[in-house]
Amino acid sequence: MKLASFSVKDPRIEQRNPPHQVPLVAASSFIFDSLEQGMDIFDGVEPGHIYGRFGNPTVDAAADKIAALEGYGSDMATYGLFCASGMAAISTVLLGLCKPGHVLLTQEDLYGGTSALIDTLGMRGVQRLTADLRDSESLEDKLAEVSGTCVVYVETPSNPTLRCTDLSYLADLAHHYGALLVVDNTFATPVAQQPLLLGADVVVHSTTKYLNGHGTGVAGAIVCRDKQMMDDTFRPIYRLYGGSGNPWDAWLVLNGLKTLPLRMERHSANAQRVTDFLLDHPKVKSVNYPGIPTHPDCGTIDKQMNLHGGMLSFELEGGLEAARTFMNALKFCTLTPTLGDVDSLVLHPASMSHRSIPKEIRLRNGITDGLVRLSVGIEDVEDIVADIDHAIG
Ligand SMILES: *Cc1c(COP(=O)(O)O)cnc(C)c1O
Repeated sequence: MKLASFSVKDPRIEQRNPPHQVPLVAASSFIFDSLEQGMDIFDGVEPGHIYGRFGNPTVDAAADKIAALEGYGSDMATYGLFCASGMAAISTVLLGLCKPGHVLLTQEDLYGGTSALIDTLGMRGVQRLTADLRDSESLEDKLAEVSGTCVVYVETPSNPTLRCTDLSYLADLAHHYGALLVVDNTFATPVAQQPLLLGADVVVHSTTKYLNGHGTGVAGAIVCRDKQMMDDTFRPIYRLYGGSGNPWDAWLVLNGLKTLPLRMERHSANAQRVTDFLLDHPKVKSVNYPGIPTHPDCGTIDKQMNLHGGMLSFELEGGLEAARTFMNALKFCTLTPTLGDVDSLVLHPASMSHRSIPKEIRLRNGITDGLVRLSVGIEDVEDIVADIDHAIG
């Protein structure tokens, strides 16, 4: 996919032979030829940029490209906003869609920041309802009980246990009850899964992860397929609450996106190889990966995912002590609380990302003390396997 050609009015930038790459436009504001032109741009009669918090050529190019990827291969028109972080994208969407008296239906095993954000919506009169979004019977009962459901919010595959939810079923259900389906597509990326094409209304991303891919910046994105929703609901909040992304992070994401499909293929192939190794290991109790043929959600996975991705988790025999010994013995994989980089990264959910979650909720969602999460990188897979092999001992 190629971006539309890029142009900035300043003759020093709009050269006869423009740069081959989208330039990094570091500017807080944009020049008007005349007062009349300024008024037309403010009114939206003429396209153009005004002020950095409203938009910027580099930032808009990243938003457009992510939006295009979410609709790739279809005729669907998609609209993007590039945000300061994944949380800025999620808060812009939820602040826009949830009003006092509304109910937000979601899963218990959400990304921690999102869960804490939804808590704060309680102060605005928005009630959270949780359910296993894979269990259609309990879901329909729950939705039938409440009125005013505004949003069904889902992460699939989920963190860190890689449970997968049927997005087309969930979209139909949400729409039946007058709600919108919002999907956090950070784990899968649009290369592996395109929620909007499955009926979802809005997609959010932490581009900090796979879309950037190199661990060099924090940013996020919103994509939807309704221009009016974008312009009337999300864009004003984006401008007023200050959630816009910056050009440097947008430029890094544009650079990362060039290799996203290649990286996702390699992440997936490497994660499958590591999974096969772990499944055969006597000291490994269980492995969670969408590419395991006996995965409890394999029907959903086959239906909606093109690739199985680079995220997996596994439980070691020996609980917390075994996990601690394993993580401290790793030499090649890095212990760090992020994911989606080209490098292999490990995290211990019980003591890191999920440490503030009450133990019984943690355990109910499969996050045991011996569970290790691995974001499998794109290195030579035998280096990753050898590191895991020696660290398990
Ligand atoms: C990291 C992450 C977020 C939050 O994104 P930030 O860029 O850190 O603000 C949201 N959802 C998921 C699934 C994530 O992994």
